[in-house]
Amino acid sequence: MSISKSVVQQLLDTCTGWRPQMYFKSSLTALSHAMEDLVLNDSDTPLVIASFQRERYYRQEAHRYKRIANKSNQVYVLAAPETDFSSSSSDYETIAFEPDDALAQEWHLVIIGKHYASCLICRERNVPFPDSKYGAAMDTNRRFEGIWTFDRAVTIEVAKIMLDRIAVYRPELTTKTNQAHDLYLASEPETNKTLVPIESPLTNPDPFVQRLVTYLQAGQYKLLKANKSLAAKQQKERLLNSVTDAVRRSLNTKQILQVAVQKLGEGLGVCRCIIYRCHENDTVATVDREFISPGIKSVKGHKWQLANNPLFQEAIASTETISIDNTLEDERLNQLAWEQGTGEFFQNLIHNYSISSWLLVPIFYYGKLLGVMELHHCEAEPIAWKPDDIALVDAIATQVGVALIQAEAYADLEDLNEQLEALDRTRSNLVAIVGHELRTPLSTIQVCLESLASEPDMAPELSQIMLDTALSDAERMRNLVQDFLTLSRLEGGGVEWNLETLSITECIDLAVSNVKARNQGQSMPEIKNLTTPEDLPLVQIDGEWLVEVLAKLLDNACKFTQADGEIAIAVKTNGGKTLEVTVSDTGRGIENSSLETVFDRFYQEEGALRRSAGGTGLGLAICRQVVKNWGGKIWAESPGKDQGSIFHFTVPIKATKNKSQPSASKAAKYTTSRQKSNKKQHN
Ligand code: ADP
Repeated sequence: MSISKSVVQQLLDTCTGWRPQMYFKSSLTALSHAMEDLVLNDSDTPLVIASFQRERYYRQEAHRYKRIANKSNQVYVLAAPETDFSSSSSDYETIAFEPDDALAQEWHLVIIGKHYASCLICRERNVPFPDSKYGAAMDTNRRFEGIWTFDRAVTIEVAKIMLDRIAVYRPELTTKTNQAHDLYLASEPETNKTLVPIESPLTNPDPFVQRLVTYLQAGQYKLLKANKSLAAKQQKERLLNSVTDAVRRSLNTKQILQVAVQKLGEGLGVCRCIIYRCHENDTVATVDREFISPGIKSVKGHKWQLANNPLFQEAIASTETISIDNTLEDERLNQLAWEQGTGEFFQNLIHNYSISSWLLVPIFYYGKLLGVMELHHCEAEPIAWKPDDIALVDAIATQVGVALIQAEAYADLEDLNEQLEALDRTRSNLVAIVGHELRTPLSTIQVCLESLASEPDMAPELSQIMLDTALSDAERMRNLVQDFLTLSRLEGGGVEWNLETLSITECIDLAVSNVKARNQGQSMPEIKNLTTPEDLPLVQIDGEWLVEVLAKLLDNACKFTQADGEIAIAVKTNGGKTLEVTVSDTGRGIENSSLETVFDRFYQEEGALRRSAGGTGLGLAICRQVVKNWGGKIWAESPGKDQGSIFHFTVPIKATKNKSQPSASKAAKYTTSRQKSNKKQHN
């Protein structure tokens, strides 16, 4: 059975002097509770009719109606059924109406006793049913229009309408509703069809008002709580946004990590917030970045044990945050850690750094661990980490992960760019060198040979000069090819290293005599050997390559120093496991910006086309490869243009303290690659 006419409308049609008022749902709840309490706290046996829009609203109040039913047998509850509500007669009468009935949009409560009479009769405006996606959050804002009054006449009018409806929905109750008519509605004033609001008939309205105020206070309190939690949520959202914004703006990993710990530590008001970078299989990590509040001990730079660390293991396995409210009671820290061998590590941390509550947040990016963030509470009284705070820290960890990947990708890109630039430089240098160092001697050889061939009567002195020139240019070409091959063997790992125990001074002597022999007949700067052999330990090295490096550095020094200049070789102990060899000259020097690039393949400061000194641009690249191979370092220094250059490189010392000198023949057998290839050629 469904009636489409609104009860509110029916009343307003009857009582024309009444204007409906607007009520929020929360006010209606307070009013109806106060009215129900009035019934429960009075000795009267009243008529009670309550109509709920839906069964679910009635369900919240069902227990009250059970109690109300103890007061009177004239209690009627109406609702649109949803699950198990139906028309029945038990403690009180329940009347189910169809969901499309006008009552489904309305909310009524009528109470009529001897001492009081009141009604609350409303219909919902714009009816946005709480089935909507906004649900309960919007529920209290729902609005109703209607009348709430203590006016007996109006209340009786409403009761009549409702009883008539009940008789229609449940005709079997007609006898009971007629009784209600006789008992409660008989005093209806005959003439009062146009009713005017009058004062409450209650002789003492105080208890009712007090109840109403209590309900309103409770509502206000709920509102306050909701506002507080909303403000806290907003603050956290702001914190998340500000961290996200700050970390995403930077492409510097250190800065990202510092901003994250700082903002998170300050924002959540924790005692300590730290981050360390690590991978799944790392056994140890160093605390990189830290935020500490005043008075809290720093752990920055400390080593964090990751192997056999139950917290770390659990975080990796679950990819989730591990929260420990009380470190003294946590099983992982107090039992598992001892079983796994990290008990002492945790005990030290907990006691020395006063960690009473602990949050460990792994930073993942697409399943790859990038690091760990930890929050420590360091006061005597531990705290329980709130789910909201954990969710916030998780969200920040995700943002930090994204920012780190972004920064690393950028750094990789920069590296790649640098490599590309270096490759490009090498390519242009290669073109220039090949152009100059191959074409020039080739043309000379061709001219010499053509002259010799076309002029058989050439004077013997002249033909000798032609032959010498052709031979020396062929040698120049061969040098280039030789250096090419040497470098590619070194880079490709095709060199067999013969480690021997040697005296470095003998290798130096040999390299110097090689260079002198090569420059025989030409004016060259003086070479001073400043080494004092008796103070130097023996070295463990492939002597052939050591002589090669020394010879190349000396060759360069000769090339770029005027004949009246000076070249010096010195060796010093480094205090460590290496000797440091220095080849310095008083020549043209090297610009500060080129001190690194001189070691690149094919680098020549003035470009091959303008070179008078000759050379392949591969000498220093070969030296770097050789020194790198024995685990040493090579570098250049120069006070500036025309102020000379200093080349340093390190050589490993023999591990034992045996000071015996090697036989002279050992070093003397070494030849530079050029000499070797010369030998081959002569053979
Ligand atoms: P090259 O065969 O051209 O000498 P290197 O690789 O040996 O090739 O040297 C590369 C470049 O480094 C040289 O062309 C020169 O510009 C610079 N250089 C090397 N040694 C010295 C030095 N002692 N003084 C000044 N410049 C030097």
